Amino acid sequence: MSRYKDEVCRICRREGQKLFLKGERCYSDKCSISRRNYAPGQNGQKKAKLSEYGTQLREKQKTKSFYGVGEKQFRKYYTMATKTKGKTGEALLTLLESRLDNVVYRLGFASSRTQARMLITHGAFDVNGKKVNIPSYLIKAGDVISVREIKKDNGTIKVALETNEARPVPTWLEKDTEKLSGKVVRLASREDIDLPVEEHLIVELYSK
Ligand code: SF4
Repeated sequence: MSRYKDEVCRICRREGQKLFLKGERCYSDKCSISRRNYAPGQNGQKKAKLSEYGTQLREKQKTKSFYGVGEKQFRKYYTMATKTKGKTGEALLTLLESRLDNVVYRLGFASSRTQARMLITHGAFDVNGKKVNIPSYLIKAGDVISVREIKKDNGTIKVALETNEARPVPTWLEKDTEKLSGKVVRLASREDIDLPVEEHLIVELYSK
């Protein structure tokens, strides 16, 4: 298990950035990237110059890891983004940010997106009063996400709420801690998204 945990942190170290994949630990001084901010492996401390393709690929991999999305689904979001008005890269990020697992995490009902996915598949949340157990479900402006009545005493959610108390809820969401619910005020725009990524490089990669 500890090996698996280290492997998760290796993803951040490879990208040279905190991707917040492990919950509480990511916000503590136990974070591997705070202690060893270089790529894993024998040559990790040598800075290799990436090709144009390599740089584009890294931006894509980083974004996939951040949101916990596989290649097939990521490509699907990209295709959806190309069909919207405005910048494709920004639309792609908005779509990823609109996933239910991300929203549950952003609202602080889970300590990581991985934990949010687990809670959702176990039927812990309603969207507009109806159970939704699909982590990739895309929320819309006006939707209300709430912890289901039978899950209000769930230990994982309680711990997440306590440990995430200080983590700010983004302005596109409105949290009601007493009711254990959150409203989507509007969809996230680029300025709302804290992922340090140059999304235009992903678009360039897929446009080849
Ligand atoms: Fe590990 Fe989280 Fe730090 Fe990434 S941000 S290195 S997942 S503890």
